[in-house]
This record gives sequence, C-alpha cells and structure tokens, in this order.
Amino acid sequence: MKFNKTHAIFALSCAILCLLPACVLSAQSLSRPEKDAVPAAASSSSQAEPLKRKKTPASSKVKEPEPIRLTLLAAGDNLIHDVIYQQAFSRTGGEGYSFSPLYERLQGDIAAADIAFINQETIMDDTRPPSGYPAFNTPSVMASQLAGAGFDIVNLANNHMLDLGITGLEASMDVIDGTQGLTRIGAWREGEDKTQIALAKVKGVTFAFVGFAEYTNVGGSSMYRDQIVYTDDWPIIEAQLAAARERADVVVVSVHFGTENVTVPNQAQEAFARRMNELGADIVLGHHPHMVQPVEVLEDEGGHRTLVFYSLGNFVSAQSRPDNLVGLMPIIPIEKAPDGKISVGDPLCRAVVTHYDSGMRNLSLYPLEEYSPSLADGHGVNAYGSFSLDGIRTLLKDTISNSFIVPGR
Ligand SMILES: [Zn+2]
Repeated sequence: MKFNKTHAIFALSCAILCLLPACVLSAQSLSRPEKDAVPAAASSSSQAEPLKRKKTPASSKVKEPEPIRLTLLAAGDNLIHDVIYQQAFSRTGGEGYSFSPLYERLQGDIAAADIAFINQETIMDDTRPPSGYPAFNTPSVMASQLAGAGFDIVNLANNHMLDLGITGLEASMDVIDGTQGLTRIGAWREGEDKTQIALAKVKGVTFAFVGFAEYTNVGGSSMYRDQIVYTDDWPIIEAQLAAARERADVVVVSVHFGTENVTVPNQAQEAFARRMNELGADIVLGHHPHMVQPVEVLEDEGGHRTLVFYSLGNFVSAQSRPDNLVGLMPIIPIEKAPDGKISVGDPLCRAVVTHYDSGMRNLSLYPLEEYSPSLADGHGVNAYGSFSLDGIRTLLKDTISNSFIVPGR
C-alpha cells in the first residue's frame, strides 16, 4: 500500500486507547468465501477493487450496509546477500543503493493491496559496512525503498536479527521507525510494553501484528528476551495474542520457524500453528525454511479458523539451490460484515521467482506469470542444479493446494 491512500498505520504506544471501542469484537470467526471471490491479485492495477464478487440484487428500498472488503499481501524473506547490495550499488553508479528495481514487476500487486507485510531478514545499520552471509548488514535505504514498493509492515523477528548484536538490531528499529509508511514488528526496545502490539487501521478494519522467532544465530533462543519474543516465550505470546484479540479485528502472527531447505513443516511448526489457532490468530505468516511450505486452514473446537502459511519461502535472495528461488506472495481477501464479523477468504498465492544470470548477475524478481522457459534455461542457478518452469510448477503443485496458486504460463 502506498502511503497516500486513505488509511492510518501506527505502531501504537499512544493512540490505541481512542480506538478501543471500535475495535473490540465480542465474537469473531473466519470463514471461507465463495469461490468467485477474486482478490485484486488478479490485476496489477492499483485502481482495482480488492475483491470482485457477484452482485447481490437489492432486496428493498432501504440500502443495506455494505461489508468492508480489503486485501492483505505478504512476502517472505528479504534476504540481501552481498551480490544484491553490490548490484544495487552499481545501479546508482556508486552514488548510493538502488534496490527498488528488484521489486518492480511485483509493485502493482504490492501497491494494490490494502496492507502489505514483509520479513526483513537482514539488519540495516549504516554505522558499519554492508555485508553478506553469515553476518548480514544491508544499507538502510532499503527501508524507504520497501515503503516505496508499497510495503507497510516490516518484521524483524528472525534468526539474523542479532547478526550485529543488539546495536545492529537497534539501528534497524531506528531505521524502520524513522521511515514514513513503515511499521516495525518483531523487535522491541528495552523497556517497551510488549502488550502494546502494532496495530494498523485500514478502511475501518484494525489489524494487529505480532512477530516471533524460534531462535537467533547468535544467541540461540535466550539472548535479549526484552527485545525479542521467542517461540517458547508463552506468557508473552499469550499476552500479546490476548491484547491483539481485544484491540483488533484481524490478528496476524508472523513467525520465523521451521527446518531450513525442506518443503514440509515439522512437528514444532504444526504445534505452534495449532496453538496460534487456539489463541485466536486469524492468519499465521511463517517463514525461515527458504522454501515454500503448505498452506492450510486450522479450526479449533469453537469453530475459530486460522489461515496458516507454514513458509512463504524467500522473497529475494542469492541462494544457490533452485528451490530457494521460488517464494509465495499470497494476497488474502478479508471482509468485515456490518455486524463486525470478519471473514478471511482463500488466498491467491502468486509465485515469485528470483532470477539471476550466470555469476548471479542481474538479480531480479519475476511473478511466475511473467517468467519464461528461456529465462529459466538461462538462470545462473543451473550451474548448481536444474531449473525450469516445469520444475517450479511441480514444486508448487507438490507443496501447495492448486486452488491457492496463481497459475504461471
Ligand atoms: Zn531465517
């Protein structure tokens, strides 16, 4: 979403109280819409309606209140390896870093979504030189360019969040907090009240976002518990979910978890997702495995439904396994009925291909629909493993229900 749209986003430490009466729902449930519900994903026009549905005939002279319809878009790991910032540097002729062209082919979707989420996997700390794996540091101009691409919610809870220690994490928080249009989740300043979760109000619908990480590469799952909520920190997780339920219409959980380089969720991921369902989450956005994993709807005994993405895969990276270069960018239709009831519809998952030429030159993202057999043939990853459109389709078909995937050509 671009920030000139009519909405208000705020990492609420202060404004929350005035919104409380409008945001509290006594009962909330998720239900799947009819199959003819098509999110704005199908269109790249930022003018498009978020959802297109069959018109229902007017039944009386009195105008029925209309439901509010909007879309949430999510992207996985923004994993900035050294070749990516080096190419961003070259694009400017050495006068700064230009990351925006990476996202250009997806910008229509991102801007058209009412709210857009991304996992920023790498620290942004301009007091140190940029660096790639294993201790990542990305030029902080990335933040404003993510906002320019249309992202709103930036998650920092992931295994690389302490790559440069607590000062690197604080620098990243400063960058996001100082960027118009962005809201930080998944990292806290020392002393912040962790029940003051991030809220975003869009078109009269309030979203709550929380972000958890299974571990960090530096500290395991113990360091800086003031600033980080690990996936075993149940008292805080439960308090955050309770606050989210109370203050928001839609509860979105970002969680960095799972086993790297596999397309099947592990038992801990499944157990965590089930617990999120019990605690009232509407949407779980998983990431970390660097590969796509299944999408499913969980339902608890009380009928509360949660749409779970076990792993969105990489959004952008310069990894060297073919399956690391295919990510999911779901566009999720959400409806708020006049009585306040929320319905989260079936997502449409656009598959996103990270393309690079030999030697990882010209790295850029393509929606699968715009990716071609000749591009796949020329992909630099063929030096490490076979890459083809058929291989991408097979990966998606074997991992995710066909009804959720936007087909490629
Ligand atoms: Zn990770």
